[in-house]
Amino acid sequence: MRTFSRRNALRLGAAATAAPFLPLRAQDAGEKQLGIALLGLGDYATKQLGPALKKTTNAKLTGIITGSPDKVPQWQEDYEIPDGNVYDYKNLEKIADNKDIDVIYVVTPTALHPEFTIRALAAGKHVICEKPMAPKPEDCTRMIQAAAEAKKTLQIGYRLHWDPFHLKLMEAIKTKEFGDWRSIDAADAGRMTNFTGHNAWRVNKNLGVAGALYDLGVYAVQACLYSAQEHPIRVTARSWTERKMEFSEVPEHWEWELEFASGRKAKGFASYGKEGNHIRVETEKGQIQIEPAYGYTGQKGSTPAGPMDFQHVHQQRLQIEGQVKAILSGEPSKVPGEMGRRDIQVIRGIMESAETGKAYEFGKFEY
Ligand code: NAD
Repeated sequence: MRTFSRRNALRLGAAATAAPFLPLRAQDAGEKQLGIALLGLGDYATKQLGPALKKTTNAKLTGIITGSPDKVPQWQEDYEIPDGNVYDYKNLEKIADNKDIDVIYVVTPTALHPEFTIRALAAGKHVICEKPMAPKPEDCTRMIQAAAEAKKTLQIGYRLHWDPFHLKLMEAIKTKEFGDWRSIDAADAGRMTNFTGHNAWRVNKNLGVAGALYDLGVYAVQACLYSAQEHPIRVTARSWTERKMEFSEVPEHWEWELEFASGRKAKGFASYGKEGNHIRVETEKGQIQIEPAYGYTGQKGSTPAGPMDFQHVHQQRLQIEGQVKAILSGEPSKVPGEMGRRDIQVIRGIMESAETGKAYEFGKFEY
């Protein structure tokens, strides 16, 4: 962990020439700034997280960990990353000695999250792990335990917890601004037609686990849960496939209905074959809805009081700043590993019900 201030920058002399990449506000405030290394330099890291890290005030991209040496020069140039802060998947453990790197942000296919997260924690780094957290709740538990043993934080990349439209929804339900909720309907789905390149792992059972249910469905499950603000007791679900050639390992479509102790229900949908992008919550005084709901920007929402009138934000920037703030302050994260595990528990229940054709009864949730 390093502290940057204008005085430090002057004192450091030559090093001060590197200062322009430091966000001014952090420098002026003498705020602590954490170094982040991205692990997995694919689409999301390249197009969203890297650019967000150019804007974060309390965090900076200081390292990369990749299995693709050909990507290294461009990243080093774009982010002024020194040779000593470049790692591959084999020598990841050496990062333990690198004081420029405080946090490792895991951005690989889902099934690889547990291994990389546990190795990063064992190397003494905090971890932000992309969604969905892991294939199974047991994997999540191993990751959570590794964080406890290393005395480091483990957080999930749930960017919508910094989006004003979703925050409004959560707050309105919590305060019962429009009364109790009555029913919930969530869908995150998009038709995929290219099954090669960086889409290939998404329909591969070993890496993407259950296709759209993991990749997109985790958002709809999250929306169901933060709208309900209670744990489900049971789920009934089904999955089906129309394009059988393309979806030989994972189903193309998923739908589910969560039932809560109060008797109320939340239905959800995730698919790589159809479209869907909403959260609608019926309340005593009318509907709260966001549609489109889950993109990086472009949300539109309304409550019974009228349209939600918010500026769109840079979700990933606010997310990383919020997560780093939690690390620096020691305050609980809004999106801890335990939340990620809860969601995987729900997703596995959906899978189990779809497979057996029977309702799945949830056990105890710890978060
Ligand atoms: P991607 O395929 O573009 O990138 C994956 C990266 O992992 C690549 O750099 C690839 O080289 C690397 N990798 C390492 N081992 C691999 C292996 N065995 N097979 C395939 N790739 C391997 O995928 P992406 O879209 O960047 O998604 C990466 C992660 O980010 C996933 O967990 C995904 O769910 C998450 N994601 C999150 C959001 C969000 O909005 N929060 C959006 C997109 C992706």
